[in-house]
Amino acid sequence: NANLVAVFLARHAGHEAKPAWLWQEETVCTFGELPAAIGRYRAALAELGVKRGDRVMIKAENSPGFALTYLAVLASGAIAVPVNPAYTASELALLIEDAEPVLLVHGSATAVPDGDVPARMTLEPDGSGSLPALAAGLEPDLRVKVMAETDFAAILFTSGTTGRPKGAMLMHRNLSSNVAALFEAWRFSDADRILHSLPLFHAHGLFVALHLGLYSAATVHLMGKFDAARVIALLPTVSVFMGVPTFYTRLLERADFGLEAVRSIRLMICGSAPLLPSVFAEIEARTGHRILERYGMTEAAMITSNPYAPEGRIPGTVGYPLPGVELRVVGGDPRVELPAGEVGEIEIKGPNLCAGYWRRPEATAEAIGPDGFFVTGDTGFKDETGRVTIAGRSKDLIISGGFNIYPAELEMVLAEVDGVTDVAIIGVPHPDFGEGVVAVVMAGRPDLQPAAIEAVAREKLARFKQPKAIRIVPDFPRNAMGKVLKAELRKQFAGLFS
Ligand code: ATP
Ligand code: MG
Repeated sequence: NANLVAVFLARHAGHEAKPAWLWQEETVCTFGELPAAIGRYRAALAELGVKRGDRVMIKAENSPGFALTYLAVLASGAIAVPVNPAYTASELALLIEDAEPVLLVHGSATAVPDGDVPARMTLEPDGSGSLPALAAGLEPDLRVKVMAETDFAAILFTSGTTGRPKGAMLMHRNLSSNVAALFEAWRFSDADRILHSLPLFHAHGLFVALHLGLYSAATVHLMGKFDAARVIALLPTVSVFMGVPTFYTRLLERADFGLEAVRSIRLMICGSAPLLPSVFAEIEARTGHRILERYGMTEAAMITSNPYAPEGRIPGTVGYPLPGVELRVVGGDPRVELPAGEVGEIEIKGPNLCAGYWRRPEATAEAIGPDGFFVTGDTGFKDETGRVTIAGRSKDLIISGGFNIYPAELEMVLAEVDGVTDVAIIGVPHPDFGEGVVAVVMAGRPDLQPAAIEAVAREKLARFKQPKAIRIVPDFPRNAMGKVLKAELRKQFAGLFS
């Protein structure tokens, strides 16, 4: 049985007494109790008419009930469609029209549209709601539907950083092969405890943090929204922490994030957006830990990772493709694979790659070529050893005076300037150069002067890359994963040179 839930449950033998999940410092269920907990939700889904291949949409904040609903959907042979609870009712209406779920499971604090969904149930972060209530009164259905490797487990929407979110169709094989690769690469074991404060509706929180706990028979301490003070309080009770770069910058703002807080930690992982080398260095100085940065996306879960050996973790790079994953850098006309050191478009292929975008055959055909390689939409290069560095999104590439400028390179350089906490490099229309480079900068102290940034740019960057304007702002527009919405910044500064 290639059902991901069957893969997980088979690995829990011998761990029956150990907590599978903690929530608000309390044990939710042990690994021994997990099958029945999933089984009750599975029985509830059956009552609600959910069958193999049906879509079940989940729009809720993190909670153990969310994780149980997700696993029960997979155990039923249905397809889980988690969505961001921040979506408005009209945004959700489009996704409902697209995914045609037979059941919508939602928190009462989240917006949902009126209209046609065959069934609706509620699920609240405190464990109440009509779905948990229904499940609690039913005999657990302990069966796990037999699924093939290529059957769909989930449709997950991309973060919408560069446009409308696209629903990636993930097969059971994608998820089980990826979690197995991460388990090996990051040396997970049943002795681990994971602190989980990432959203469950996104690949990072679902496919990395939750799945690794279930695959490793390691306890997951699940949290609601990221809260730096709570994370620092709980860190000494766990061995692994995972976050997006903004989590780490927020932890660094606190004086109590230091050696004492990380005394039981063996591994801190970062991804979903670029981690600035300046942040990597600060974390190392404060905690002695070299963050392990990895690169992934909704369409393929995790793709590359820095090595496990701390000295092999190089800031500003995302490491090597995971076992079984092929990654190539292509460019030119006709498109060919580029030699080491040359920046081009990153394409990947492997058991982790999804089957395409739900009900968007044109988008799928555009993204996945006849040879099975997926165009990631990211640019980057490999070094002689195959180590990958991301240069930025293809859509964020700046062409100024005929030269290609890759934002990530400039961002890393300018973030080193004393007093700069974050940098977003964008290109906006310029009468002479086509596009002019603008450095949008977040300052860590009020007296930061653009001249200090200019001086570093002049010293460290070729003239054509030097920003033509520097703007200091209090914060960047970001999405739920803390990713900078550069399209909004470009709009905001569109008139700068005209
Ligand atoms: P959309 O596809 O809707 O525009 P998105 O690409 O942000 O949104 P996700 O699938 O959540 O949606 O994110 C994947 C992207 O995140 C990658 O394509 C890459 O641009 C970025 N990313 C992930 N990890 C890293 C990393 N370690 N360094 C740099 N970028 C990263
Ligand atoms: Mg994307």
